[in-house]
This record gives sequence, C-alpha cells and structure tokens, in this order.
Amino acid sequence: MLEIDKVSVIYDSSQLFANLSLTIQHQEIVALTGPSGSGKTTLLRCIAGLESISAGVIRLDGQDITNRPAHLRNIGLVFQDNQLFPHLTVGQNIAYSLKIKRVSKQIADQKVREALSLVGLMHLLDRTVINLSGGEAKRVAVARALIAEPQVLLLDEPLTGLDIDLHGRLLEDLSKLLRARGTTVLHVTHDKTEASAFADRVLDLRQLIS
Ligand code: ADP
Ligand code: MG
Repeated sequence: MLEIDKVSVIYDSSQLFANLSLTIQHQEIVALTGPSGSGKTTLLRCIAGLESISAGVIRLDGQDITNRPAHLRNIGLVFQDNQLFPHLTVGQNIAYSLKIKRVSKQIADQKVREALSLVGLMHLLDRTVINLSGGEAKRVAVARALIAEPQVLLLDEPLTGLDIDLHGRLLEDLSKLLRARGTTVLHVTHDKTEASAFADRVLDLRQLIS
C-alpha cells in the first residue's frame, strides 16, 4: 500500500500543491488526471524519491520512506520520454538495475529475456535503442522498470504521442500485463478515456488537495 499523506511541494517560495493525500491499495491501478502544470509529474518524482517534498509523509507498506534515497525505495518510474540510455542496447537498458545490484550475468540474462518476452520484444534484444519506434521504446522502458520487481510502478503519460492504433494496443497490453502480475500502479495521464479504460479508480489531482 502506498500512502501520500498531506504532501506539499514548494518551489522558490511558490506552492505547487499543498496537503495532497492519496492512498493506493496493494495491486490497485489508479489513474491520476489533472491539467498541464498541476504537478502530476512532480508528484511522481517525489514518490520515486527524485525530488524532495516540503511537508508531509510518504509511506510504503506502512514504512516511512519520505527521506529514503530513490534507489532504496523499490518504486519503478516510467518517464514520459522514456529516458532510455542511448549508448546501450535494448538488453543492456533493461539489465541496468540488475547490474547496479550486482546480479550475476547468468541470472540477469535470463531476467532480461523474461522481461523482453513479457512486452513482446525478444527480437530486439541486441538492438541499439536509438532507432526504436515510439511504441517499442515505451515497451523497453516498461520492461526496464518491471525487471526490478518494484512494489509500485509509476507511469507518466505512458501512451501520449503514440498513434491511435498503437495507443489502443499498448493500453490493452499494458493493462493485461500489469493486472496479471498484480502490480500496484499510479498512472498519470491527461486523457480521461485512457484513464477509465486502464484503471480501477480515476482521480483528479485537484480532488486530492485538502
Ligand atoms: P504536470 O506534469 O501536471 O504538467 P509538472 O509537475 O511537470 O506538471 O509541473 C508543475 C509545475 O511545477 C510547472 O509549472 C513546472 O514549471 C514547475 N516545476 C517543476 N519542477 C520544478 C523545479 N525543479 N523547480 C521549479 N519549478 C518546477
Ligand atoms: Mg507531466
């Protein structure tokens, strides 16, 4: 269970949001909508530990993780622009977190294959990531996040900018995959139709502020 408890973010003395609270149950998929600039990306970065909050508490399964470094949080984040490492192959991108954790090459190779087959991209294992299509790059980013077996997966506008056919297909694939794995998900999108198709519960960021 992820609990965001009265969290505030202030930049340069101006408040982005204050007293924002949200609880996501184990294995629940929650979609978060809200206007551009309302702080959706910032909230995800705070949950992942990439930005610090000005007030409030973030708990994961009852433990206070507010000041825990990002790499010790066990929370996966798929960035809107994927942020794949351009100098690494698809396989190396996906293996990255395992390498950091010094997982043996044999086990890492097997996990990379499993992650790639989950997203249907086994044939791209040794490709560089530079020339991937938008949909392929997104699947690689999802596989890279899932291989670390995060307790919570954060998705920042994962389907924005994809053409309509691909959007529909990836929405369905992602939804099936994440439900089958029982992943707890916070999915940020400005697309309300996408939000209700994907999630158990749809919330607007502005509703979360007390
Ligand atoms: P959304 O994802 O909902 O569009 P963002 O979280 O990206 O919103 O941004 C919310 C606002 O916070 C924007 O106005 C942005 O310029 C501002 N912002 C984000 N990060 C910083 C930062 N590190 N310093 C100052 N302002 C920031
Ligand atoms: Mg954003």
